[in-house]
Amino acid sequence: MIPRTLFSAEHEDFRNSVRRFYAEEIVPHREEWDAQQHIDRKAWNRAGELGFLCTAIPEEFGGAGGDRLYSVILMEEQSYAGDAGTGYSLHSDIVAHYVNNFGSKEQKLEWLPKMASGEVVTAIAMTEPGTGSDLQGVKTTAVSDGDDYIINGSKIFITNGYLCDMAIVVAKTGNSGEGSKDISLIMVEASREGFTKGKPLKKIGMHAQDTCELFFKDVRVPKKNVLGREGMGFVMLMQELAWERLMIAITSIAGAEAALKHTLEYTRNRKVFGKTVASFQNTRFKLAEMKAELAIGRVYVDRCIELVLNKKLGVDDAATAKYWCSDLMGKVIDQCLQLHGGYGYMLEYPIARAWIDARAQRIYGGTNEIMKELIARTL
Ligand SMILES: Cc1cc2nc3c(=O)[nH]c(=O)nc-3n(C[C@H](O)[C@H](O)[C@H](O)COP(=O)(O)OP(=O)(O)OC[C@H]3O[C@@H](n4cnc5c(N)ncnc54)[C@H](O)[C@@H]3O)c2cc1C
Repeated sequence: MIPRTLFSAEHEDFRNSVRRFYAEEIVPHREEWDAQQHIDRKAWNRAGELGFLCTAIPEEFGGAGGDRLYSVILMEEQSYAGDAGTGYSLHSDIVAHYVNNFGSKEQKLEWLPKMASGEVVTAIAMTEPGTGSDLQGVKTTAVSDGDDYIINGSKIFITNGYLCDMAIVVAKTGNSGEGSKDISLIMVEASREGFTKGKPLKKIGMHAQDTCELFFKDVRVPKKNVLGREGMGFVMLMQELAWERLMIAITSIAGAEAALKHTLEYTRNRKVFGKTVASFQNTRFKLAEMKAELAIGRVYVDRCIELVLNKKLGVDDAATAKYWCSDLMGKVIDQCLQLHGGYGYMLEYPIARAWIDARAQRIYGGTNEIMKELIARTL
């Protein structure tokens, strides 16, 4: 096994605390949260209290001022715990980074401390019923009216949407016809009149994740809520995308590693024809193939993480990681489920949940087909 070299002793201590948190405070609520289709609000406050939100945000804005390895640890431990409900990483490692990188000092002081404490839950609303992959085709408009914008439109599939107190909304503020110049990012408080939320959507997996629709009907928002500058939305989105895609690769490798671990345990204990399932040559070869592929994926992802730390991760490298690792995750988990036989189809087994939850990894964050487009453009 090629050793991982990214983490210090301090990171490992942090990992132990996160692991304990998931085991003691998240996993026991799984069934209840799956049924209600969202986690409890207090799980946000508790994560904030423990310093698990906004770990990479500077201390002056309420974050922990850590490097992105703390974010990596949080994502990996969530995957090892088999949790698909907590939307902490989208809040801390996507939304908070937009505010921190592009917000004014006032905006950062207004939002980041409350995001780090868990008092405020956030979402990012790009996708619309009519457009997902083609972001430049968004129809939601933010029309200028004095010092305000009036927002009209709707968004779909929004992670943390049901519980969110603020969403960064991707909206058209211009009519130049060049999609990339007409888009702005606007922070919209959920309390604003005309902003309504649908019920959490009924998904095939990730049941405790409150993915929902958001509707905007003549929502008046002050212009001071725009992030960066009007019309710069697309440029800002592009700057953050490499990291966001790597996040999916990170959780894909960790989730698949967890599936392999469960499968090793299961096949060592299950006896068929008087032998353990693990002793059949087919099982041993499958497990060996999966171990080998995951080891190779792990090294690539760790190298990408290193590049992120040095601010050198390229768009195509991140697209490669996202597409290849999420495809690998799907393949590994499917093979692992097969090795469980009928029990693999039963939700009480972690592999069954992993199988349904994993499917979205190939879709969100830009579909894997879009990733291949991005890679192809560099050839
Ligand atoms: C669980 C979940 C959570 C999500 N969370 C969020 C969120 O928090 N915020 C948010 O904004 N969005 C979110 N999304 C939306 C997600 O990012 C989109 O679903 C995704 O980008 C695809 O867009 P679409 O669904 O409109 O598919 P479409 O764009 O309609 O694509 C349909 C098919 O066409 C293919 N396709 C499209 N263009 C091309 C092309 N040029 N070449 C080849 N094939 C192509 C796609 O790969 C796909 O297979 C989430 C989705 C899910 C399932």
